[in-house]
Amino acid sequence: MANKEGMLVLFSGPSGVGKDTVLNVVLNKDKSLQKSTSLTTRKIREDETDGKDYYFITFPKFEEMVSNGEVLEYAQYGANMYGTPKAPVDKWLSEGKTVILKIEVQGAKNIKEMYPDSVGIFLLPPSMEVLEQRLRSRGTEDEEDIQRRLEIARDEIHKSVDYDYFVINEDIDSASDDVLTIIKALDFSHKRMNNFISEVIDNV
Ligand code: 5GP
Repeated sequence: MANKEGMLVLFSGPSGVGKDTVLNVVLNKDKSLQKSTSLTTRKIREDETDGKDYYFITFPKFEEMVSNGEVLEYAQYGANMYGTPKAPVDKWLSEGKTVILKIEVQGAKNIKEMYPDSVGIFLLPPSMEVLEQRLRSRGTEDEEDIQRRLEIARDEIHKSVDYDYFVINEDIDSASDDVLTIIKALDFSHKRMNNFISEVIDNV
């Protein structure tokens, strides 16, 4: 990782698997974790807040930010663009924070190339049937969008083999406990390595 202090966690999983719900529980349980808020060109959903769930922006604004170098990584998902604002992530990492990016697999792959020490956690549904039910019951997408998301889900699960950890979201409590356990163990190990570098290696 370019920065010696902070740790970057890539949290992915197919649409409808429950990433937001699991992540919210994780963030509530450990206030030291920092979630990055992404940029998106998609329409805001009824239960979402601009600036909290996403920064909802137009296509031209998105393009402008990309060409100004303000976006760390970005990807197209369905008909929309999604991206991670660069400046806050750089700042949090330099402050030694553990930063969580909730991103799809292509973006995660790009980040892994830039930050080889970043850690990927992939959230899986118990089955594809459950995933479809969850996607439908949320009622936020039309049939065409649901079909597109299910197709992307199959593709994403195939591509998820490169992730470091897999958690099955059978129920929110155990899935969030699993994610938190993984992050805490990694964080502990990462801090120990940083201390070793600064106290043992750089001090000689
Ligand atoms: P949704 O429309 O369901 O909120 O998100 C669609 C997909 O875009 C999800 O897989 C989500 O993780 C991903 N996503 C959200 N923000 C970003 C981002 O900043 N970068 C990338 N590459 N993917 C993102």
